[in-house]
Amino acid sequence: MQIAIASGKGGTGKTMLAVSLSELLGETSMLVDLDVEEPNADLFLDKLLEQNHTVTRMIPVIDYSLCTFCGVCAANCAFNALVVIPGEVMVFPELCHSCAACYYTCPVNAITEGQHPVGNIEEYLLKNASRLVTGRLSVGEAQSPPVIKQAKKTAARYWCTNTVLDCPPGTGCATMEAVKGSDYCILVTEPTPFGRHDLKIVLEAIKLLNIPMGVVINRWEGDDAGIDQLTAQYQVPILERIPFSRDLAAGFTKGEHPINLMPELRDKLENILLILQVTK
Ligand code: SF4
Ligand code: SF4
Repeated sequence: MQIAIASGKGGTGKTMLAVSLSELLGETSMLVDLDVEEPNADLFLDKLLEQNHTVTRMIPVIDYSLCTFCGVCAANCAFNALVVIPGEVMVFPELCHSCAACYYTCPVNAITEGQHPVGNIEEYLLKNASRLVTGRLSVGEAQSPPVIKQAKKTAARYWCTNTVLDCPPGTGCATMEAVKGSDYCILVTEPTPFGRHDLKIVLEAIKLLNIPMGVVINRWEGDDAGIDQLTAQYQVPILERIPFSRDLAAGFTKGEHPINLMPELRDKLENILLILQVTK
């Protein structure tokens, strides 16, 4: 089973839940950190780096022996990633979306495919013999979907019974790329007006993917702050409420394992797996 853990905003406890769930699922599970702009699941796990490879995406390379500086490529680029000036075709890799429109429309075939590095994929063996695959976007790069796609592809090479995906927060294309194809999506939120607001947006977004969803309320202090009404409206169950714990928050930021910091978390996670009918 592939379980995506997502949230409407950052800082809700998504990674804490992903790390704890994958650990509970044991050695035949895999954790994939798709929060590629700031991956941090590896910080909480005893790990051994086995492989680290670069992710690239296509950008145009101009053959100046053929180019006539006609400007057709720039006119066909929907992302303003090309500027043609006398004697030069300027390529802006950070704006390029690798759509290949310029490549196909150049009248003299003066454009070939070059590769631009955008990030890397780290493959770790964990202490409990399970695996972690981390996607990491390079500093200064804006487009995370190619790194997310490659991290998912890398994870799919391994046999495992259950995969837990730590997805990017929000509702952008990075989140949708990470969640799509999953069997279930757990949305982590906090019981505040902001949490409720962002949960509503992410519920709307994930609904488009037609994936079953459930909500986990983190840092719960006895009041759902209207999240119960919202989930009822969307017919999405509240899977669990994780109580607020200063010890958990403080220890987790220092890299301590959540289940060690809050032993009752184990029962709550077991309950979530039971509801999802996940077998270890
Ligand atoms: S379309 Fe081809 S020939 Fe025209 S400016 Fe672009 S690369 Fe050069
Ligand atoms: S590949 Fe697409 S986005 Fe990139 S420069 Fe060419 S037309 Fe523009």
